[in-house]
Amino acid sequence: MKAHHGMYIGGEWRLAAGADTIEVVNPVDEQVIGRVPAGTSADVGHAVRAARAALPGWAATPPTERAAKLAALRDVLVARKDEIAETVTAELGSPLPFSQAVHAGVPILVAGSYAELAATYAFEEKVGNSTVYHEPVGVVGAITPWNYPLHQIVAKVAPALAAGCTVVLKPAEDTPLTAQLFAEAVAEADLPAGVFNLVTGLGPVAGQALAEHPDVDLVSFTGSTAVGRRIGATAGAAVKRVALELGGKSANVILPSADLAKAVNVGVANVMSNSGQTCSAWTRMLVHTSQYEEAVGLAAAAATKYGDRIGPVVSAKQRSRVRSYIEKGIAEGARLVVGGPESPREQGYFISPTVFADVTPDMTIAQEEIFGPVLSIIRYEDEEEAVRIANGTVYGLAGAVWAAEEAEAVAFARRLDTGQVDINGGRFNPLAPFGGYKQSGVGRELGSHGLTEYLQTKSFQF
Ligand code: NAD
Repeated sequence: MKAHHGMYIGGEWRLAAGADTIEVVNPVDEQVIGRVPAGTSADVGHAVRAARAALPGWAATPPTERAAKLAALRDVLVARKDEIAETVTAELGSPLPFSQAVHAGVPILVAGSYAELAATYAFEEKVGNSTVYHEPVGVVGAITPWNYPLHQIVAKVAPALAAGCTVVLKPAEDTPLTAQLFAEAVAEADLPAGVFNLVTGLGPVAGQALAEHPDVDLVSFTGSTAVGRRIGATAGAAVKRVALELGGKSANVILPSADLAKAVNVGVANVMSNSGQTCSAWTRMLVHTSQYEEAVGLAAAAATKYGDRIGPVVSAKQRSRVRSYIEKGIAEGARLVVGGPESPREQGYFISPTVFADVTPDMTIAQEEIFGPVLSIIRYEDEEEAVRIANGTVYGLAGAVWAAEEAEAVAFARRLDTGQVDINGGRFNPLAPFGGYKQSGVGRELGSHGLTEYLQTKSFQF
């Protein structure tokens, strides 16, 4: 793992316009592990020009050839998966086995799925007396967060390239080394110069310049709702396409007929994985009043087992944010069952797995996204109340429902205002559309739904 001093623009590493840099810190030991350039609007301008220049050639490349390039990119990611996992672990702090399985494994799956889709998707269709062409939207500005650093890059870049778009990426400040590694993979896979460009930098500087750039046709953003709202407003004012993958506060609803121990154990694991830094994490566990104390006991035991096996959160800033939510939970009267705001270690941005019981739906910890290893267990009296509580936040990204019979869980899940629901612990599907209802976002990623975000239609009538 090495840090590049330049930006990857037009198929080469070139020096940044300014001299400022961003320090990359390992959250486990708080040591600086590298420095990357802090891009300015001048760098963004160069990158957008390179993407614009590459667009006609890439858009005109037959989809099967674009598919072959994406398959080559997937193969490079496979060949470098250990390096990817080590890099994510170094800058995000996640334990290596998790980085190998998820941070490296999932982007490989997703890149492979778009290699296949590019080859098989109907970019031209007949509708009555019309032929409809699905054409690339143009130059894409992609802005990504740090919590799944490579996945979020690939979930935007792979469908954009499959569609025939070209891309400028501005990755998160905390995890730019993974983005540089991805740029190396693009070069190694021999993608044409300019189809993918990387500008590292600060959100309010490089990110904002990219979102505001008049020659960007579509902005695809994943991150906080606060920044997403601004980007949506900017895109709206310029009448340009925008996709927003924002926050979440998902409910894990355990119906009385469910296997309680399994539902609680899987639910706790879901919240603690990646140290709680997962936008779709089921951070609110809803349990029927008759099983409530038993569920609290099971959750406490499961969270305690995690102990210090989870990694740190990404930065000192995130640690203090998560701590202040834990303090707020205590102050508002929730019952702290396991964990708490104190640091479990002297060094590193660690937070203990934390479980709150007696959380009421209106408490801050039940409404706002904490983005740390903190679970809130909420009591419900009947199914109607469970639906009301589950739907009672501004978010609607994901969720889970557990019941003895699948049909019972499905009937309940149909009443949830959310983009994804796992039924009885259903597995991740890289082809299923991912995205939010309500303030969790606009648009969908993954699979063919993710591909259509980067396409626009042109109809010829005969
Ligand atoms: P963030 O919004 O602060 O940053 C995300 C990205 O936006 C970073 O690259 C950042 O540099 C950039 N940015 C910041 N300010 C900007 C501005 N003014 N203009 C343009 N770009 C700007 O979010 P974060 O703290 O990095 O990530 C955590 C958030 O992301 C959480 O709220 C989480 O739920 C959300 N998230 C959502 C999804 C999803 O798919 N829905 C996935 C992962 C994370």
